[in-house]
Amino acid sequence: MTDLTFKGGYGEHGRSCFLIAVKDYYIILDCGIMDTDPNPYPDINREILEKVKYMFVSHHHEDHIGAFEHFVDNGFCGKLVISQVAYILADINYNNTIFLDTNSTNLNLCEDIEVQYGRSGHCVGSLWFNIKLENKSYFYSGDFQAYTHAYICDVPENVVANVAIIDAAHKDLDVAENRSKQFIDTVQMHLDNEEKVVLPVQPYGRGIEILLDILKNLSSYKIAVDKRFLKAILKNLEYQQYFKQDSYRIVEKFLDTNPLYDDNTFDILLIGDSHLVKQSTQTILENVKDKFIVVATGKVAKNEMIDKLKKKDCLVKCSYTHHQSFKDIENWVNNNEFGIIVPFHNDLKQLIV
Ligand SMILES: [Zn+2]
Ligand SMILES: [Zn+2]
Repeated sequence: MTDLTFKGGYGEHGRSCFLIAVKDYYIILDCGIMDTDPNPYPDINREILEKVKYMFVSHHHEDHIGAFEHFVDNGFCGKLVISQVAYILADINYNNTIFLDTNSTNLNLCEDIEVQYGRSGHCVGSLWFNIKLENKSYFYSGDFQAYTHAYICDVPENVVANVAIIDAAHKDLDVAENRSKQFIDTVQMHLDNEEKVVLPVQPYGRGIEILLDILKNLSSYKIAVDKRFLKAILKNLEYQQYFKQDSYRIVEKFLDTNPLYDDNTFDILLIGDSHLVKQSTQTILENVKDKFIVVATGKVAKNEMIDKLKKKDCLVKCSYTHHQSFKDIENWVNNNEFGIIVPFHNDLKQLIV
């Protein structure tokens, strides 16, 4: 694969960036950063960046677009190809942009590049791409989840690609459906134990999936959200084209119940602060008078609040991933014709041939 170089995201979680050499120019797939690394950027020099004709960006999360301005400062002046929603949420400003619209699934980018694309089920604005060059095709899933509660995933079928770079963030975990059941069982167990359940969530992405899962399975409980997450829910709903219709209506109905947290009457509280670092989160947690448990569903960085909760035995982990496990991939990948599969977004360095 001399024409494909891994610049990030392969053998590591984050910094997703893949470079494809095409004749006298280059294509980049994503330009993420690794926010825990003192040097967070993918290593691509000016000489190459100046020759990048197209940069495809799968979605607005930092580990996929965080290096965009750095690349522009260092010579990138090609075309950015992205969904309009991801562009807005990433808060970037770049004139040379081609927007991919969900009303279509194909784009003739230029004489020798045809692009097939679809929604990847990961968050609003997230897309997968199949980039067909003259002699070779590259499939790129971006962050991907086929089993979803909230977002539509256009699961690829009959896609032909020589190389398929596929989100495989979880090596050992079960399929997403079972992970979702385990999560609901965990929350239910704590509620049965007369504990209030607090869920710190990522407001754009996993948070909406968790909310929908709870609304569908634990609707008899009083569910509340903090201000930050409420704001994100409203923002998410602006992009209806990425939502499953029934889920969209469920969220709308939920908003009619006036779910903003204002006192201690909740059973389940979702907070839009996945790392528990905001002052407002601390204030809320200090004011919960009854017995409560914080269920962390993703990675949490070490901090004072986490330590305090651990000491009081008020924190449990139950992963609610919004990436694929290797088992998830098996469910759909064989409906396509992929040559070499590159499982990325994990610390393995593996190719499936
Ligand atoms: Zn993501
Ligand atoms: Zn990612």
